[in-house]
Amino acid sequence: MTRPNQRIVMKFGGTSMAGTERIRRVANIVRAQAAGKDGARNEVAVVVSAMAGETDRLINFCREANALYDPAEYDVVVASGEQVTSGLLALTLQSLGCKARSWLGWQIPVKTVEAHSKARVETIDAPDMIASMEAGEVAVVPGFQGISPEGRIATLGRGGSDTSAVAVAAAVKADRCDIYTDVDGVYTTDPRIVAKARKLKAVTYEEMLELASVGAKVLQTRSVGLAMKEGVRIQVLSSFVGDDAVSADELPGTLIVSDEEMDELVENGDMERQLVTGIAHDKNEAKIILTRVPDKPGAVADIFAPLADASINVDMIIQNVGRDKGETDVTFTVPQSDLARAQALLEDRAEAIGFNRIITDSHVAKISVVGVGMKSHAGVASTMFRALSDRGINIQAISTSEIKVSVMIDEDETELAVRVLHTAYGLDAED
Ligand code: ADP
Ligand code: ASP
Ligand code: MG
Repeated sequence: MTRPNQRIVMKFGGTSMAGTERIRRVANIVRAQAAGKDGARNEVAVVVSAMAGETDRLINFCREANALYDPAEYDVVVASGEQVTSGLLALTLQSLGCKARSWLGWQIPVKTVEAHSKARVETIDAPDMIASMEAGEVAVVPGFQGISPEGRIATLGRGGSDTSAVAVAAAVKADRCDIYTDVDGVYTTDPRIVAKARKLKAVTYEEMLELASVGAKVLQTRSVGLAMKEGVRIQVLSSFVGDDAVSADELPGTLIVSDEEMDELVENGDMERQLVTGIAHDKNEAKIILTRVPDKPGAVADIFAPLADASINVDMIIQNVGRDKGETDVTFTVPQSDLARAQALLEDRAEAIGFNRIITDSHVAKISVVGVGMKSHAGVASTMFRALSDRGINIQAISTSEIKVSVMIDEDETELAVRVLHTAYGLDAED
């Protein structure tokens, strides 16, 4: 028997799986990868998303059925999108003469912990699936789903199929995890917003983690964190590469690399060292202002403790300078999907916290610039503030980390702000 040369995990997103014709294109790419080259085949697991738009459609059904839906039942509904595409891809592969079968989350099993609708992968122990791959059968895995400690279906949060793919790659000790999507790599910013965005040959795990967490949805944040921890080699590629199924080894995508690998790429002249690597935006946050909060120890803790207990993530926080009467205003942001819950929780505690009014605004966007170069160079934030003010864009809140500066602005100015900053940091591609 020929020894398999490589074990590869391939992941296809929603646009790549949208309809039977596209699934056939995906099946051709998978078949070519499994067939391998030079007499050595590859062992392949394919992780798939639901068809584009399907998860949104299913979520809407849940909302219509019950506005305050039970997350466990929500998971039952939304996980079905990936079940459909995994079965369809297995069927299509079989029709092309390629041995394949689907492995649902509970069959592998993909064990998860934490809350329904945002579960985290705990362990994947997949001896049967590995044996089937070794026997030459392509394993088709629905992304986004796992099984909770209670034995119920659990989903991994929006965009979670990326995390499924990395978790499967770590579990089967894959040589590579190829993430096929509708763009051909990671760009300096969303190429759908800035036509002059440049494709990056490589990005470090740390920068990709930060970019994803501030809105670059090309990879789910958790998938990058997991890949960094487990040392999974990720490559982002396009599944729309003409009619011939080109092997991933020949496609120019983006590699997610360690700091050391990046240093080598820079030394060899394959990459330029930039102060800012990328710019991301996020329209999914909402702003809450509490007015006339008592300016005394413990007041801020009283506001944020109930939010933390309800697993609501608070991102940017500003506390204004206290006024004469020992009062201050506190502004902060939460995910838009948690705004109603956060507001209700705070209103319930209005008296205990002692604020006067609660003002909310979902019409905001967060714009972030990310780059490891910031660790050693000053002036990144001031360039940002100057470039935005030159275009009359008002900054409502600011937050920073070692490799990131974020500002909150009016949502209507999102695209303009991203373009202006892309130019200001010299990231525009030459014509
Ligand atoms: P999939 O369905 O394949 O998971 P997603 O829609 O989740 O695809 O992610 C791909 C999208 O991410 C692209 O279509 C692009 O609009 C968006 N995107 C945002 N920021 C970036 C970036 N910096 N580089 C590439 N794509 C980005
Ligand atoms: N289908 C899920 C979503 O739309 C998971 C994914 O595509 O990654 O969020
Ligand atoms: Mg995605």
